[in-house]
Amino acid sequence: MTADRLTDARLTDADPDRLDRLDGHRPGPVAGIDIGGTKIAVLIVDADGAVLGRATHVSSVGDQDGAVPAIAAALDEALANARLTRNDLIAVGVGVPGRVDPDRGHVTLAVNLGWTDLALRDGLEAAIGRPVVIENDVRAAAIGLHQRGVAAGARDLAYLAVGTGIAAGVILDGRLHRGARGLAGEIGHAIVDRNGPVCACGQRGCLESLVSGPSIARRANVESPQEVYAAAVAGDPGATDLVDDVGRLLAWAIHTLVMTYDVERVVVGGGVSHAGEPFERPLRRELARLRAASDQAAELLPADIVDVLPAEAEAGAWGAVAVARTAFQGSEVVSHA
Ligand SMILES: [Zn+2]
Repeated sequence: MTADRLTDARLTDADPDRLDRLDGHRPGPVAGIDIGGTKIAVLIVDADGAVLGRATHVSSVGDQDGAVPAIAAALDEALANARLTRNDLIAVGVGVPGRVDPDRGHVTLAVNLGWTDLALRDGLEAAIGRPVVIENDVRAAAIGLHQRGVAAGARDLAYLAVGTGIAAGVILDGRLHRGARGLAGEIGHAIVDRNGPVCACGQRGCLESLVSGPSIARRANVESPQEVYAAAVAGDPGATDLVDDVGRLLAWAIHTLVMTYDVERVVVGGGVSHAGEPFERPLRRELARLRAASDQAAELLPADIVDVLPAEAEAGAWGAVAVARTAFQGSEVVSHA
């Protein structure tokens, strides 16, 4: 069985019910690789979900010519930590911060990485000799959170990632919802202030242009959102106003996701959320204000509507692990053909 045949038969939608049926038919470790703007994180996980090895390369993944060797090097380091080789893996999943065409295995556009129409899946399969599945990082994380029963096992949930960019992965009735153009959940480019700053997408006043990590730092004239949250904790009035505004806008995003997709829960993660309590408090305060103002909002936004992930949740890497297991579904289809 070649990687090419796996590619042809690969299922591109995670179907957790199907995964449940197949689990155990073909046990074996998978690798989940989370590509970020400044690091590559790898988890090697066995069929029972135990972590066998890990590696984090804290460096830019590089231009697209260097992407495959950089990813393979991080994978090999994690495999060495697990005392495994590439051949021990049944599949590799990769989460990429950008637009991904899962059918072709291409990264269509990853602005923060500087990649355009990169055939990442085929390049990695040629380099490492194992089946590879690639997916947008936020959508991969949503699949992973759902499979792991986060948010009380909700079958309708959204994962809102607040980091370098802002986007949501939407799971409806247990399946990833992509939408007609594969852009479902791209709430970061919903306009919240028509007089706001110009966004990388060309519009003015997108949510992302106001409350992504880089946008928060820019609005405070500092290097990082962590500095803003630290200043707010220290009582700086300007920083306090800014983190309150971030909470208001993210509560708007959560309200909008719940109204448009009727999800049961919204899980919030991403680098900005790792500020913890100072991040969460203004968000919860605004949700409480919305509830108090409207019976409809009170019904849509119950107190347990939001789960903020702890920083150590590694939603991206676990999402990539979940995506790797969808290659395994493909292999089952081929073996029964
Ligand atoms: Zn935008």
